[in-house]
Amino acid sequence: MKITFHGAAREVTGSCHRIETGQGTVVLDCGMIQGGRKRHERNREPFPFPLDGIHSVILSHAHIDHSGRLPVLIKAGYGGPIVATEPTVKLCEILLPDSGRIQEEDARWKIKRLKKKGEAHDWVRPLYTEEDAFAALERFVPVPFDEPYDLGPVGSVSFVKAGHILGAAIVDLRLPDESRRLTFSGDLGAAGARLLSPPQPVECPDFLIMESTYGDRNREEPGDRTELLHGIIEKTIDRGGKVVIPSFAVGRTQEILARINDLVESGKLSGVPVYVDSPMAAAATEAFALHPEAYSEEARRLLRAGDRPLEFPGLRITSSVEESIAINASRDPCVIISASGMCTAGRVKHHLKHNLSNPNSCVLFVGYQARGTLGQVIQSGTDPIRIFGEWYPVRARIETIEGFSAHGDRDELLAWFEALGGTPRRTWIVHGEEDASESLARALKSRFDATVEVPHRDQTFSVSEHG
Ligand SMILES: [Zn+2]
Repeated sequence: MKITFHGAAREVTGSCHRIETGQGTVVLDCGMIQGGRKRHERNREPFPFPLDGIHSVILSHAHIDHSGRLPVLIKAGYGGPIVATEPTVKLCEILLPDSGRIQEEDARWKIKRLKKKGEAHDWVRPLYTEEDAFAALERFVPVPFDEPYDLGPVGSVSFVKAGHILGAAIVDLRLPDESRRLTFSGDLGAAGARLLSPPQPVECPDFLIMESTYGDRNREEPGDRTELLHGIIEKTIDRGGKVVIPSFAVGRTQEILARINDLVESGKLSGVPVYVDSPMAAAATEAFALHPEAYSEEARRLLRAGDRPLEFPGLRITSSVEESIAINASRDPCVIISASGMCTAGRVKHHLKHNLSNPNSCVLFVGYQARGTLGQVIQSGTDPIRIFGEWYPVRARIETIEGFSAHGDRDELLAWFEALGGTPRRTWIVHGEEDASESLARALKSRFDATVEVPHRDQTFSVSEHG
């Protein structure tokens, strides 16, 4: 067996790992590479592996950095199935076409800008279109959690709840040689989420591929996150400003909504319009409402008591572009939750453009900002900021509540590893900035005497019968 790490190797995005067995190849995830123009351009490079030997693609969860290049893979000629959990398929039906539209929209903006400058623009092409995304969706095979799914000659797969976003799974592969199991953690959720249940334990596999987004740090417990959110919203509204919350449309948005729901229903916030300005977030919120089985104990208890955690007075879900533009035309204070979460694309860039220079407004980060993304540049205090080719001085307050992360922190990652109840023969650390991956690898070596490697991009490991 050979394992090659084609993405999310010493970086956070572009998850893609390839497992070659004598009977065929399995690809785990096929994610978009995100984090600035240079990284984004890598998405256009041809796949560095042959597509005809791939038996199945297995998708851990719907986030674009795991799923976003599937339409490119299909366009390039991959003809097999894409296996994922039922809610992941639901969310991909929302996320992938939206990603296609964003690619098309960005291409149109670029053309407009080049035209303005009188430069050539006929070379600009979207990475893929909404149509391409629909073509990819036809390949999806939905599989329930915790039931082995037969992959024919390449073995079988089970999905275990990872608690990271709705549908997110730990991928448990049984390879053709019965004695070997390979587990891919996918992205592991944090304990203490308001909506979703925490990651479930798995039995110790022979080989483990593990994420390390927070591999080098523990989140400071910032106190009650709902209260922090309350304070920031209240102060901004009192100043007459707007709170812009860049947020992943899927997962984070619903977690924030559940907290605002608590604030509104306990009477702490009232009369404040809360816009969810993303058609995708709107659809994802509906998908969350359809899968309460994935909720935490607390959320399920409230639901049983008749409180829908994603519905409250003042919530306005905007879909059309006109409605989105109207939010900025109005001077009234409000909360705007908009995608994308790292400000790399989508409507949030327009809201930032309108609010960054307003001293009464506030940009509130509630999620991880990968190096090189517009979100990380703003968060680091850079001033002025360039958006759509123009410069904006930063006068708005820039705030962060880190504890909202959908990722387990270092201690939670170590606890999940310990709960395997043994040490895999080999472990590879992926999906983290280099320092985070190295740091988690060192901890696993010293605490558990594990054989751990942090692969480089496109690095291959041959695994013999004996490990
Ligand atoms: Zn994720």
